[in-house]
Amino acid sequence: MYPLEHHLKDLISQSGPVDVATFMGLAVGHYYSTRDPFGVDGDFTTAPEISQMFGEMIGVFLADAWMKMGAPSPVVLCEAGPGRGTLMADILRATKNVSGFQAALQIHLIEMSPVLRERQKAALQGFAVTWHDDLDTLPELPMLFVGNEFLDALPIVQMIWNGTHWQERRVGLDGESFVFGMAAPRFPPPQVPGHPEKGDIYEFSPMRHDFTGKLSVHLGRHKGVGLLIDYGHDHTSIGDTLQAVKKHKVIDVLRDIGETDLTSHVDFEAIGKAAAPYVSVHGPVGQGDFLTAMGIGLRASRLGKEEDARRLVADDQMGRLFRVMALCHDPKIQLAGFGS
Ligand code: SAH
Repeated sequence: MYPLEHHLKDLISQSGPVDVATFMGLAVGHYYSTRDPFGVDGDFTTAPEISQMFGEMIGVFLADAWMKMGAPSPVVLCEAGPGRGTLMADILRATKNVSGFQAALQIHLIEMSPVLRERQKAALQGFAVTWHDDLDTLPELPMLFVGNEFLDALPIVQMIWNGTHWQERRVGLDGESFVFGMAAPRFPPPQVPGHPEKGDIYEFSPMRHDFTGKLSVHLGRHKGVGLLIDYGHDHTSIGDTLQAVKKHKVIDVLRDIGETDLTSHVDFEAIGKAAAPYVSVHGPVGQGDFLTAMGIGLRASRLGKEEDARRLVADDQMGRLFRVMALCHDPKIQLAGFGS
């Protein structure tokens, strides 16, 4: 058994089955805090690790947004869940000739993993960087924000229809094995279209809701633009999307707990609703359409990297499943890539 599995077993033996959010929070926390999981030799590969063009296009978007905001100085450039720091390094390289931009920037990273904080420090040598555990400690300044594959790692709750009622899914023990079960829900029944069938699962994420709400309050209050990129769906729906990946393969979510990349699809309708009271919400649009609008085609032909660009933009690759949503304090600002 892996260390987290021992811990979880003790926890369940002492206090009973745990809810999915607790399970996911423990698993994701242990996973990232103990390793660098990215790349072909690791468990999974993200867009910035596929190509520098991803970060370059985000850099173009952010510099353009900054100018449309009236070029505030100082301005916070914040990334949540920066992984190896590759995206931030590419953004900074791509924007170094934008007049006044880098002089205005204060770089802030939200990262829980000590291992990845070290990687980020190495990737961003020469830049002054401040790390945070959460949004709460960011300076009260205008902000440019980006999070790629961050929300998908935040825990979800799963509700399950038992034929007559919504119950909450739990993780318990059957002998030595971890198993799913259900228990009385702590939440009101979900409002979902259609009639559920026995065994149907509804997911929602109080943590994603809180994060997006806080981010939007900051952007609304201090001005700014935020970009959230993740795989997911545009409308709230029924379905079990909790997924574990190890060595580039999908495996049982209750196997090798704390040693797999555990994520779920982001419900962008729910994210939009959490943001809408405070900021204007743009998108979501497909990652392919967004990167194409930012000029990835031209950049790819200059670099001779058309195949890498295809992985990021093609519908049968990351172009459609990955969605891009932008948040902005000022509804009059037309953000690049989110044409009306
Ligand atoms: N954005 C990067 C990495 C995505 S993986 C890329 O695209 O390559 C998810 C990242 O979010 C990791 O850096 C992980 O350590 C971080 N993370 C996950 N949950 C977190 C949390 N609750 N608080 C802060 N960082 C978190």
